[in-house]
Amino acid sequence: MTLRKLTLLALIVASFFAPAIAQEKFDFYSRGPYRQSVPRPSAITGYEPGQFQTPHGQIARVLEKIAATAPDRVRLLENGETWEYRKLYLAVVSAPENLTRLDEIKASIARLADPRKIASQAEADQIARSTPIVVWLNYGIHGNESASYEAVQQVIYQLAASEEPRTMEILRNAVVVINTMHNPDGHERFAVWENSVASGNAENFSIEHDEPYQVYGRSNHYRFDLNRDLLAMSQPESHALIRGVREWRPQVFVDHHGQVANYFFPPAADPINKNLPIENSKLWYDKFGRGNAAAFDRYGWGYYVRHVFDVYYAGYMDSWSSLNGATGMTYETDAGGPTSINSKLDDETILTFRQGIAKHFTASMATLETAVSNREARLKDYYLFFKTGMDEGRTGQMKRVVLLPGRDPHRAASLVRNLVREGIEVTVAREGFRSSAAHDYRGAKPASKDFPAGAYVIDLNQPQKRLAKAHLEPNPDLDKDFIKRELERRERNERRGKNVEKEGYEFYDITSWSLPLAFGVEAYWTEDVATVRGAQVALREGATPVQQMNSLSFAELSASDSQPLPGLAGGVEGGRATTAYIIPYGTDAASRLTIALLAEGFKVAVSTRQLNAGGRNWPAGTLVARVHRNPETLHGRISALARETGAQAFAVNSAFSETGDTGIGSESIVSLKEPRVLVVWDESTSSTSYGAMWYTFERAYGLQFTPVTINALNGADISRFNIIILPDGSASAYQNALGKSGIDKLKGWVQNGGVLIGIGGGAALFTRKDVEMTSSRPVGSEEETPAAAPAQTAAQTAAQTATQPAAQPTPKEKGKEAAQEKSPAVEEKPAEKKKPTEPIAVPGAAFRAKIDRNHFLSYGYDSDTVVVLFGGDTFFRPSKDGANVVTFAADGALTLSGFVWPDNTEALLAGTSYIIDEPTGRGHVILFAEDPNFRYLWRSATQFFLNSILLAPVLK
Ligand SMILES: [Zn+2]
Repeated sequence: MTLRKLTLLALIVASFFAPAIAQEKFDFYSRGPYRQSVPRPSAITGYEPGQFQTPHGQIARVLEKIAATAPDRVRLLENGETWEYRKLYLAVVSAPENLTRLDEIKASIARLADPRKIASQAEADQIARSTPIVVWLNYGIHGNESASYEAVQQVIYQLAASEEPRTMEILRNAVVVINTMHNPDGHERFAVWENSVASGNAENFSIEHDEPYQVYGRSNHYRFDLNRDLLAMSQPESHALIRGVREWRPQVFVDHHGQVANYFFPPAADPINKNLPIENSKLWYDKFGRGNAAAFDRYGWGYYVRHVFDVYYAGYMDSWSSLNGATGMTYETDAGGPTSINSKLDDETILTFRQGIAKHFTASMATLETAVSNREARLKDYYLFFKTGMDEGRTGQMKRVVLLPGRDPHRAASLVRNLVREGIEVTVAREGFRSSAAHDYRGAKPASKDFPAGAYVIDLNQPQKRLAKAHLEPNPDLDKDFIKRELERRERNERRGKNVEKEGYEFYDITSWSLPLAFGVEAYWTEDVATVRGAQVALREGATPVQQMNSLSFAELSASDSQPLPGLAGGVEGGRATTAYIIPYGTDAASRLTIALLAEGFKVAVSTRQLNAGGRNWPAGTLVARVHRNPETLHGRISALARETGAQAFAVNSAFSETGDTGIGSESIVSLKEPRVLVVWDESTSSTSYGAMWYTFERAYGLQFTPVTINALNGADISRFNIIILPDGSASAYQNALGKSGIDKLKGWVQNGGVLIGIGGGAALFTRKDVEMTSSRPVGSEEETPAAAPAQTAAQTAAQTATQPAAQPTPKEKGKEAAQEKSPAVEEKPAEKKKPTEPIAVPGAAFRAKIDRNHFLSYGYDSDTVVVLFGGDTFFRPSKDGANVVTFAADGALTLSGFVWPDNTEALLAGTSYIIDEPTGRGHVILFAEDPNFRYLWRSATQFFLNSILLAPVLK
């Protein structure tokens, strides 16, 4: 060994042990005495906190051993399981006298949460005096923010084993509900990888700080960001969370994250969701923040407040739990995860994993102390949260929301299911009713309207009013002062030279999420509340978690009058067909049925003109399964699959068309091909965009596909596939990875009939120099400077959801920091009133768009307009050579809901295209400006996407 190598070794050894020199090791066991019967976590794992990443199975063992040795204080409950069948555990910890009366405590708090059950303020006060406070401690939502997974073990040990007076005080006055591992699938990917490479090296560029793209433990199995899923509620981890919160009804809720440069806890940053009782919420954020601050100040630790982490988007854990009556808070620790065991701060101070764990432990304990010392006051405010919410629901202008099952009853039912799941009361009308002032969500003036039987009614005069309004209102209110501040930033940015770094904007996520708009369900809100005869919709008792997370099944939804919900039962009408089965197109169920039939090898065709069959007219896009083109088994399978998927099919017994020129035997009926789909999943790809597509295909529509890296794509025989999809991502990274030969290969494949689909950055690739697979160009690219920023979409602008493209390896919280790095290069000159030329990235808003109803990509839509999510700074000019299927009108107001930049967004978006089809040779290149699968939340454009897969391979 050379001297140089020895020196290097000494350096590595020194950096490993540096923390002991730099700072005293935090003592996790200073708050005793401890009961000897309860084992320390390290006695079970074999190592001290912070030495390794503890995997799920090991943590489960720690939980079980502690629960088994402290049964007087700890109940360990299974609360569901993940896609990868890892168990989710809640640990309920309290004093023995509370554990024996948990049902009574739950019942008391449930009454506070329903003011209809409380006769007087005095009664509420009495409950507040005599009931423990419920504190929910949530650990591990982001699997690679791993200090959380270690801290939870220490917190449970402290509560289960310590006889310290302060700890005993907590146990007597609180029921602590601990969601022990929120996202074990993601954490397992991270932990196994990290343990296999880490040596405690503190160099921030060393391999253990560089989490591989495919590992990306932040997200769950389907690469969903679980801190954004409480609107779509599509993932089992979210269902477990919601179920737990509905059962235990916490007054305090802490979601433990990490890592940022310094610890963060509330007061939260602006803006705050206006459906919260703002002043009261702020008071409590402040109180808990000060409690944490005092605990941290004892150690001299740094931290920050009121910056970056806001409480606006209604699908974060902190805002969602706040909308459920808790003081919902995000805590971010500074070490662990991709900063590995040791890392260097900007002044070379060594930060250890152990310190990150210690800070979470300290914040958790301080929170419990603040909670119990304010127990009674916090419980009283919990009651008032619901009481004043109901008052507002009764007196506010928006009194009721009405949803119409309309064209796709399953889509409406899936929205209703989400509402019911989170405790919002929904009535299904059994008779029609009338409103004298109904506001159409699509923006028409209020008018009187008759609603049919089958409509879903959500009255806001209900305990969950605040949450219901936050999830349903068409346009969430955004704080005026916040907007003003962002506009001032923009002004300052516009005065800066193009090489001067710009200030980042403070939007942390999309600004439009109204569930009816996102799901594409026809909706109204009314100023009046006419009597509705109907039944309450409920989740059926006994439905298993597996049933509840099956997006294909509505078996767990039922109505209190035992009558079926409208339009959900599928099946074949008219018995065994002799000529064909007609499948009306344009519903989720019809798409599922079609995909299932094609996968089983049956022949299905699409009518490209209005079809007359079985004595009825069917619009273009209607599907036809012809009896004589299929085996005998068609009859049985179509009937079984229709029942299973909830789709409708109609038996037809003659090819004769009563009117018109198109019948079953017409040449306008074109045979479909089974989709053979390749999806790129590589470092150029946004992992959440890929994940949302993966989930949509596999779980919602049952479509199988082949995921590939670009390297594999470049080498593979792609002729066997008819669809290739580039999810949202970085256009330049796609281009670099594909190279000229890869691009040429794709071009040749399209010429031969392939359908190449790009989403967001994947679509922007097609517009780039030396790619040019479309005549569209991004707005602003005409004036483009050589180093134009890569394209962005809402998926990326909502930056924490986006994967860091290879070019931006920031192992930090994909939070505000990332958003700032990627914020748009505003290059407008300060010249007054100059017509804007370059878009400023939009955080994500809802826009009206026009549909070209004559194009096959719009089959299944029955309106000329659609409300779509759009974000980012890539606005596509219309194609000159292809079809502009969905476009933003050149005049008229485009924005329906959410924030847009004045004198920029609408001016530049007008006249651009949202979906472009470029017929190319025998194939197609199809561009989606925004992700049609965004979080499985914005589903209004899903049908266009399915059409590009089912129809584009055979239609022109
Ligand atoms: Zn996080």
